[in-house]
Amino acid sequence: MACAPLRGAAPRRRAAVRRRVLRCEGRSAPAGRVRSVRPVAGAAVGRAGRLRGAGAAVAAAAALLSLAACDPWHCSFESHGACVEFESPPADLEAARARMDRLLELELPFWNLHSLSGWRIQYRDTTEYVCYLATRNEGCTDYIQHTLSLHVPDDSGGCFEAAELLHELGHYKLGDPTHSNPRWKDVDAAFAGIVWDRPDAPAECRKRYQGIRLGMWPVGTDAL
Ligand SMILES: [Zn+2]
Repeated sequence: MACAPLRGAAPRRRAAVRRRVLRCEGRSAPAGRVRSVRPVAGAAVGRAGRLRGAGAAVAAAAALLSLAACDPWHCSFESHGACVEFESPPADLEAARARMDRLLELELPFWNLHSLSGWRIQYRDTTEYVCYLATRNEGCTDYIQHTLSLHVPDDSGGCFEAAELLHELGHYKLGDPTHSNPRWKDVDAAFAGIVWDRPDAPAECRKRYQGIRLGMWPVGTDAL
């Protein structure tokens, strides 16, 4: 990595141009509404950073550009080996760390994962984020920068758990830009149990999302 984590550094808005190699686009919607999830075509990338498919040459060029536009990390804390970075950090970072530990404890096993060592989870306030060919997206899995970048819904009320981390973890594990693996079908139904319907759910999440079980994390399977 050309960019090392900067522990304890102040967060800042991201204006620098970035290059991403896989992204999913769409806006979170209330229960009952469906929003599209569309990764960029031709950008399939292997888990270990090995490029495959027609997008390899483009992604390789993107890798060079990524090195040119170095994106330093601003970690609020670590969780399950990952640097966790907030564009707008929660007021209580110790509580946020505990919430993040619990969130990953719930989400990693869904994809048979145990750690995110060496990666960054980035929570941002805007959908405007350059991810390969897209300039707006809800989430981005970047194998070059080792970053899962997530938009926190504008109306989340402080519930960062509602961002689509479970979706990006699927891309981290599988690649699979067309969502062809059958496990994607279970992602949307996992929303309630992970975000608000559990005894230790954050009050912010229970207050904002209680009763919403479907429609927040839909996935368009077998489609870009
Ligand atoms: Zn996706």
